[in-house]
Amino acid sequence: MIGKLRSIPLKILILRALLRRLPKNHPKRLQINEERSRREAGYQSEEYLDSLIEQLLGSKFIIFHDLNFSDGKSTYQIDNLLISPKLALIIEVKNMTGELTFDSINDQFYQRVGDKIKGYPDPVTQVQRHQSYINKLLAENNFPPVLVDYFIVINNSNAVLVFKGTSPEVRKRICKSHSFHKKVPLIENAHIENILTNKDLRKLSKLLLKKNIPPTNYILEKYEIKVYDLLTGVHCPFCWYLPIIRSKKQWFCPSCKEYSYDAHILALMDYFLLFNMKITNQQFRIFAHISSPDTSGRILRSTNLKSTGTNKGRFYYPEIIPW
Ligand SMILES: [Zn+2]
Repeated sequence: MIGKLRSIPLKILILRALLRRLPKNHPKRLQINEERSRREAGYQSEEYLDSLIEQLLGSKFIIFHDLNFSDGKSTYQIDNLLISPKLALIIEVKNMTGELTFDSINDQFYQRVGDKIKGYPDPVTQVQRHQSYINKLLAENNFPPVLVDYFIVINNSNAVLVFKGTSPEVRKRICKSHSFHKKVPLIENAHIENILTNKDLRKLSKLLLKKNIPPTNYILEKYEIKVYDLLTGVHCPFCWYLPIIRSKKQWFCPSCKEYSYDAHILALMDYFLLFNMKITNQQFRIFAHISSPDTSGRILRSTNLKSTGTNKGRFYYPEIIPW
């Protein structure tokens, strides 16, 4: 069963929104665009692995693709989290080619392509951090102590894996995507006792979706961008001119002279991804450059956003993100 489908990962959506909202001459544009295209290429190859996971484990687990959590200090991006009455299972995916060395002696991970060597964050350390986060989340929310296990899957058939000092316990949890099916009995046979009830699973599914929030601060801090560096206004959906204006109950582009009914939807999406997950009428009015509070209120109410609070304290928010 699918608890959360893989939509375009939040990090990609944030990077795209950032490129729309950074001034054209901003010094970090090139770097941001590079990260965006690298992540977009990785996302495409993950779709194959998603269907493999769903096919092999979908009948026994509830599957959540691409979850982003934060505990205030750090962020945790989990490629796949699977839950069942017996087990919670994290599956981290690396879309990398070349010779990949897991060096457990020094907790490092590096890639050799030709005679070039490049270091990356160690996937084992990374997945163990995620494991601790999920353990803590379960304990804090009074779930029975179900085991949180993990796998690391290298999603590239040309990659060659090299292990240095990696313990057998860790090593058996790392594989390439074409041999992932061989790990399924290991997953199924090791855990036989039911720990979580169906009610626990429903509660946990809800909690995971509620905790899934855009890792915006992580990206803004990485590129040293402050929110006030970002451009406001609504983009023209035809020529990307910014900002378009409100005229005759529609959006009008002073550049290409086209009208649009729903150009504000993308602007709101940008707001939720880059500024805040909720918005008041006044904040929207300023962000979208609308002069009348009645107009901005009417536009907000015409969307499928949820709302809470009254009068000026009322704010609107998407039930799930991406919205
Ligand atoms: Zn236009």
